Amino acid sequence: MPTLQQKKSIADLTDKDLRGKRVLVRVDFNVPLDGDRITDDTRIRATLPTIQYLVKHGARVILVSHLGRPKGITEALRLTPIAKRLAELLGSPVAAATDTIGPDAKAKAAALKDGDVVLLENVRFHPEEEANDPAFAQSLADLADLYVNDAFGTAHRAHASTAGVAKDLPAVAGFLLQKEIDVMGKALGHPDRPLVAIIGGSKVSSKIGVLENLVKKVDALVIGGAMAFTFFMAQGHETGSSLVEDDQLDLARDIMKLAQEMKLTFLLPVDVVCAKNFDATEADCTCHIAHMQAGQMGLDIGPDSIKAIEKVLATAKTIIWNGPMGVFEKAAFAHGTEAVAKAVAAATERGATTIVGGGDSVAAVEGLGLADKMSHVSTGGGASLEFLEGKQLPGVVALNDK
Ligand code: ADP
Ligand code: MG
Repeated sequence: MPTLQQKKSIADLTDKDLRGKRVLVRVDFNVPLDGDRITDDTRIRATLPTIQYLVKHGARVILVSHLGRPKGITEALRLTPIAKRLAELLGSPVAAATDTIGPDAKAKAAALKDGDVVLLENVRFHPEEEANDPAFAQSLADLADLYVNDAFGTAHRAHASTAGVAKDLPAVAGFLLQKEIDVMGKALGHPDRPLVAIIGGSKVSSKIGVLENLVKKVDALVIGGAMAFTFFMAQGHETGSSLVEDDQLDLARDIMKLAQEMKLTFLLPVDVVCAKNFDATEADCTCHIAHMQAGQMGLDIGPDSIKAIEKVLATAKTIIWNGPMGVFEKAAFAHGTEAVAKAVAAATERGATTIVGGGDSVAAVEGLGLADKMSHVSTGGGASLEFLEGKQLPGVVALNDK
């Protein structure tokens, strides 16, 4: 399991290492935009500790990020609105370069004084970024004396600005990346037990790696969301028109067998909230899973399932949650997710370490106003998924060892 105990971090650098140095920082400013309005600036705020630390120590800060999936230069995906928002958050000016490695980037990077900040243009305007092109990585490296990676959200990608550039410069982790890896690394490596994982969401197939890895590590595995129905069908239950992945039935059986062999608590929902189809906005009924009928679609977990989950969470010392319990986007099917979010928040309150990962799960927790009641809300959906699968993240591997 990658941990940052072995990787050098920005916390290891002092004023002497940083003052007057040009520091290239890979950040994840891939924020949602409505025109040029930023609808959620969480990711920008998450990198402030790293940027402020560098500014305080007189570094000349050169920020590089991607935004969206541009094919070449795309006007709507320029980083100008992000530079503006960052300047507001920092309370000091942020220069915006009109290119990434071109003349404007070079000029603005060269003109930086100690403590100044410049944001380069969207790094994915260059196809060389995702291709991890060595010459492109070298051009990025040429702008700076030192590299900091604080972009956890893209750490699972081996791109020029996340991995390639680390070959050409001294390379260390930023505070955000460090926190992500430290918290999740401890939860998977040497957790306070009992360790409980709650895995939900839409598909078994997108979480195979997570299930296979966690089943070997946890004391209890709680399954919810649509993926529960693939397990129910594997057990021979009627699942009506619920979302089932026929090609994952064997995998579901394997996971259940492993859970039994490992003697861990394996918790499937016992009751479900049903409607006729996915477009329903009201629930038709709540029934025990053994009483589901053809034509019914399970869209949330029921009250008895919630009670059982609350009981398991009540004694947990570490909780990892990935994937909502139901179609939480609709009020009628959001109760399971809300109850679990509250139970996880209560666990934090009594001292448990609680981790929420996954784009939709994080959105659910934020929507409920409970994000700050969790020990850790991951800023990287795909990256946290790969981390929970036990994979090495290229953006972490590329950093210098301590
Ligand atoms: P995350 O992004 O947190 O990893 P996923 O992407 O795996 O989560 O799944 C989230 C989606 O799963 C949500 O859009 C939610 O509506 C859907 N979902 C949850 N339960 C059900 C269900 N019973 N039937 C259909 N969709 C479901
Ligand atoms: Mg998702």
